[in-house]
Amino acid sequence: MPCFKRNPKERFDTKMISIAIDGPSGAGKSSLARSLAQKLGYVYVDTGALYRTIGLAVLLAGHDPGCPDQVLAQLDKLHLDLCYQNGTQHVLLNGQDVSDQIRTEQVSKAASQVSALPQVRDFLTETQRRMAREQNVIMDGRDIGTVILPHADIKIFLTATSAERARRRTAELLEKGQQVTYEQVLEDLKQRDYQDTHRQVAPLRQAPDAILVDTSELDFDGALARLEQIIREGLR
Ligand code: C5P
Repeated sequence: MPCFKRNPKERFDTKMISIAIDGPSGAGKSSLARSLAQKLGYVYVDTGALYRTIGLAVLLAGHDPGCPDQVLAQLDKLHLDLCYQNGTQHVLLNGQDVSDQIRTEQVSKAASQVSALPQVRDFLTETQRRMAREQNVIMDGRDIGTVILPHADIKIFLTATSAERARRRTAELLEKGQQVTYEQVLEDLKQRDYQDTHRQVAPLRQAPDAILVDTSELDFDGALARLEQIIREGLR
């Protein structure tokens, strides 16, 4: 099972605070959650990285992430570790750091495919919950406020138009040296949105008690300030 390193200063007799940020790809969840975690001194948990790592493992084994039998056969063989170095999350697949390898469009697609399988979601559920039990966390994903942490102290649903999300994602991938076009990225993103919102288990949707934040018209600093305000007011 996946594991993570706990901050030894953390106390188990105190209730930890958890902040859930859900939303579609490219809404800015990861970069905003990372900055917020730094400001608040919380642990940032990027749950998408866990699904991406399972997608990568299936691809590396030469299997089809769209074929449930092939994915499930792989699940028994993989060992995931989540570790933190200077506050940055790293994912280890069978002992190897794959944090950079999981950031391609091919892996994004594979992650979305494998994440539709209930066995894959079950495999990762306890790890995510344990992290929130033992540390103050800002956790981002698709089902954090609805399934993983239904009692999170604060829930935020972050979104933006698909055009704006694709524009941001394209810029990010080009900066990393990946050869992509806006049209390709937009198409992939719409496909992933469809898969993530239409799967039977834990589909992406806003929890009834989540606060909706649309970042389409906000720059990074504007969105960060808005989320910080929501969190500080919510924790008062
Ligand atoms: O957040 P990120 O884009 O890295 O996630 C990759 C994929 O993993 C998503 O498209 C989604 O299908 C899946 N995912 C999920 N539940 C989460 C986080 C990610 O199903 N909590």
